Amino acid sequence: MPVYALRRPLASFLVAVQALACMPFGPGDEAGEPAIGGPAAVASARLVAADSEPGSWMSYGRTYSEQRFSPLTKVDTDNVGQLGLAWSFDLETERGIEATSIVVDGVMYATSAWSIVHALDARTGEKLWTFDPQVAKDKSKHACCDVVNRGVAVWKGRVYFGALDGRLIALDAATGEVEWSVATVDPALPYTITGAPRIIRDKVLIGNGGAEYGVRGFIAAYDADTGEQVWKFYTVPGNPEKGFENGAMEMAAKTWNGEWWALGGGGGTVWDAMAHDPDLDLLYIGVGNGTPWNQEIRSPGGGDNLFLSSIVALRPDTGEYVWHYQTTPGETWDYTATQHIILAELEIDGRERKVLMQAPKNGFFYVIDRENGELLSAEKFMGATWASHVDMETGRPVETENARYSDGPQLTWPSYLGGHNWHPMSFNPATGLVYIPVLDFPANYAHPDEFGFEYRPGAPNLGIDGITGSLPDDQAERDALGALVKGRLLAWDPVEQKEAWVVEHPGTWNGGTLTTAGNLVFQGTSNGEFVAFRADDGKRLWSFPTQTGVVAPAMTYELDGEQYVSVNVGWGGAFALVFGEYVRAESMPNVSRVLTFKLGEDGSLPEVDWQKNVVFDPPEQTASAETIRKGYSTYQDVCLGCHGLNAVSGLLIPDLRGSAYLHDQAAFDSVVLDGALGANGMAAFGEQLDAEDSEAIRAYVIQQAWRGKALAEGRQSAARSSQ
Ligand code: CA
Repeated sequence: MPVYALRRPLASFLVAVQALACMPFGPGDEAGEPAIGGPAAVASARLVAADSEPGSWMSYGRTYSEQRFSPLTKVDTDNVGQLGLAWSFDLETERGIEATSIVVDGVMYATSAWSIVHALDARTGEKLWTFDPQVAKDKSKHACCDVVNRGVAVWKGRVYFGALDGRLIALDAATGEVEWSVATVDPALPYTITGAPRIIRDKVLIGNGGAEYGVRGFIAAYDADTGEQVWKFYTVPGNPEKGFENGAMEMAAKTWNGEWWALGGGGGTVWDAMAHDPDLDLLYIGVGNGTPWNQEIRSPGGGDNLFLSSIVALRPDTGEYVWHYQTTPGETWDYTATQHIILAELEIDGRERKVLMQAPKNGFFYVIDRENGELLSAEKFMGATWASHVDMETGRPVETENARYSDGPQLTWPSYLGGHNWHPMSFNPATGLVYIPVLDFPANYAHPDEFGFEYRPGAPNLGIDGITGSLPDDQAERDALGALVKGRLLAWDPVEQKEAWVVEHPGTWNGGTLTTAGNLVFQGTSNGEFVAFRADDGKRLWSFPTQTGVVAPAMTYELDGEQYVSVNVGWGGAFALVFGEYVRAESMPNVSRVLTFKLGEDGSLPEVDWQKNVVFDPPEQTASAETIRKGYSTYQDVCLGCHGLNAVSGLLIPDLRGSAYLHDQAAFDSVVLDGALGANGMAAFGEQLDAEDSEAIRAYVIQQAWRGKALAEGRQSAARSSQ
């Protein structure tokens, strides 16, 4: 039981009292457990019966089945046009916002970048408390995909969340004060936490990220009262000479070759998806890619490399392995299976089946029997080219010619950002459709033949050729590639395994989805709109200008008989960091806020003033062509994850091509090697790079700055001459 601190703010006390007065479901737990009061009084019985309390959104995907479907109907297709802004809350950050808010007992728990947690009055947006775990800014070095956080879990008066640096922290839900904090990982290793915890029977479940750098993936369970670790399940085997933790690891090790453990640990991080079936007593987890991506380096001679890119079913009380299904055997493209997992009951061939659905990065939509892992169907939901189909006899994909880029570079759909990434999809039992935020663009994969592969501990270790994977120098070619970069909202029939309807978006990296019993689908877009669509046919019914790109999914709740729809907005994430070239054409910069809507409101947002243009002022280029090319390769290996392909930044981080540090090598070294801007999030890379690397990277960025300046001036003169 939490001990409420004395400094409990009056506002949260009032909310708690109101909540107790109108609580539709008793806050007690299973038989014998005393009832608990106060905010976030969520326990097993209440969470398992979440559908009897549709006004709340008590866990990440609303229920353990993670459908992101709300039974609320007060906002529907007839009146959604009257939705207006009821309140907004400034999240005071300029980095990506990916969280789903939790709303229970009248309080909203929203997280922002850098793992900061806010408790708000869900009726008004008034701040009750904020907790900042003070993550060191240079930890951003290990965050492949922005310093994001996807949300909290609540349980018996506490709020639980993972901090970017690997801590799992329990706060008093009433006050925001720390009850306990544990390091779930070795802080010296490049693990991060961005995902939301889940809680099953007093155990807090959390995984981690870091497979781009080199870690050994796992998920672990912690005692909700004390933070003590209860169990730990590794997703990939360690060095077999040291023995195996369990039979599952012994089985997995037979599918690996070489000395993967010496290249950082094999990868396989559990950084996002979890779902739970209380009747079957199974926890489902999604497992990520290998380290390095390139399997020929990671596991020479091949092998399936279990449990990379797999869905694994575990016993939630013990972490014991039950079954797995591997979506991408021997993965070599960063095709994670960490994407959102949804549980549902579907009638297939005249028989009601308990299914698990996933649209992982690899571009196939999977329907799996969740009792035993049997594959029921798998079809492409976008134009994946790496495999022709999934063989239903074996359950394995049939790869296309040169899919593994063994015979030279291969332009491949989807890219390493996937046909679908972390942005949650949703399932509406009334329409029978799954609403998927689809990414559709390729990446050019090649082995690192020109400069070879060097394992750099703590830096990105992808094992592919960075120059081949970058953008073409020729602008016409670059624009042609850009024309292939697409994003859409896809309504998918999981029984028929085919498209029901589709909406093409102007941009690529759009928000997760929410669907409701009001026959609605809500989604934000990269170009700054929050939109409602009719769920059965995709007709666009309403939108609101968000002033920023939206990547998080919306959620909805009801208080005092009124339905609210809320979305956390704020541009960011992996695409925003890497694909600056396209971001600058199609997306809006970061303005991070919670926006909450209800019928009959007409609130507006204050004007924002953001600047997309880079001011180019490069020094003279003095480096040799050879140095510039080496710098190009090293930049693509080490820098692009934050600063963008070809040094074009994606509106989150200052564009290096406009940096004053380009004018002086010693100043540039002080930043790159020594961490002079560590407090701003630019970590020291002195352990991964040397002075020669730094000089070559600077030369490459200077070249790109001159290129950008010429293009900008060319465009200006073209614009002038057309007047
Ligand atoms: Ca990855």
